[in-house]
Amino acid sequence: MSPPTLIDAPTSIAAPAPVALSYELFPPRSPAASETLWKTIRELEATDPDYVSVTYGVSGSNHDTALDLVDRLQLETTLRPLAHLTCVGGSPAELSTVVNELLDRGVRGILALRGDTPRDGVLPQGALRYAQDLIELIRRVELRRSAQFAAGKVAIGVAAYPTKHPESPSEAHDIEVLLAKQRSGADFAITQVFFHTDQYASLLHRARRAGVTIPVIPGIMPLTSVRRIEKLASLSGVLPDASLVDRLRSAGDDEAAARGIGIEASVALAEAALEAGAPGLHLYTFNEHEASLEVLARLSLPRPSRPSLAARRRAAH
Ligand code: FAD
Repeated sequence: MSPPTLIDAPTSIAAPAPVALSYELFPPRSPAASETLWKTIRELEATDPDYVSVTYGVSGSNHDTALDLVDRLQLETTLRPLAHLTCVGGSPAELSTVVNELLDRGVRGILALRGDTPRDGVLPQGALRYAQDLIELIRRVELRRSAQFAAGKVAIGVAAYPTKHPESPSEAHDIEVLLAKQRSGADFAITQVFFHTDQYASLLHRARRAGVTIPVIPGIMPLTSVRRIEKLASLSGVLPDASLVDRLRSAGDDEAAARGIGIEASVALAEAALEAGAPGLHLYTFNEHEASLEVLARLSLPRPSRPSLAARRRAAH
């Protein structure tokens, strides 16, 4: 009997892939914040995510705490870190040092970001300007060390924008930039937060039409309070959904009711994204597990069945 060809390969090859699951964490700024974060990490670890991402401050403002968190995730948990790295204003030498530090620690996934530009917009001579510059630099460092990875690749993620980036002239320009980041070597993208159920589908449609083929993973934020939504809006420049804000406000002091409304809205965003073909979900946790777990519990994502957490912990250590 001849070996099976791909045409009559087992159906498992053609079966839909499991939905990827990941969380964003930020390095703690105090011992108390560290305690909360570690409780969160333990709770999230039990859901067996594919990776957790660790944010990075502009100009490496939290370089040491970010690298400490990456180290501890690798040494003390079964989780795989995806390290964010911002580049604007940094020199190629400074940034290749950080890339090498990450690779030395065993990191094999980097989210290549620009970060916020200085207010006056003036960058030192020779400094990196765009995320695309960082992707190219990471690929150059990787090339020099490729034997170490058994010629495997470092996975490079980038940011994508369902609504226009605040500094961009148009949404079409954002898509051109995403395509340029793919051409420079990006392997996948994670989206900025968004508030309307049609926005992820629209981004994916426009990106695919322009030739973007990499996975574009929706970033979903559990929207549990007006305070959080407003903070998020000021950080990201994404206008919040006014009707959601009204509904949350109408709950008044009833925190449980507001939470229910917010979780409902986040679940609707995630469901619409999955319906549009999202290959995974990336949850912005704000270092708290409860709301993310509530969203997940409502979604019943198709996830791979893996050994229990206890077994994975035993195998890892
Ligand atoms: P870029 O892709 O470089 O784009 C920035 C701007 O420049 C856009 O307006 C784009 O249109 C324009 N542009 C890009 N390339 C070109 C070009 N070749 N020519 C002309 N214009 C160009 N920030 C942090 O500080 N730390 C984090 O850890 C962090 N994590 C994030 C994670 C995710 C998933 C997302 C979506 C954002 C994150 N950010 C983080 C925020 C991010 O740094 C900002 O959104 C920043 O303003 C843009 O970063 P970028 O990587 O998209 O930049």
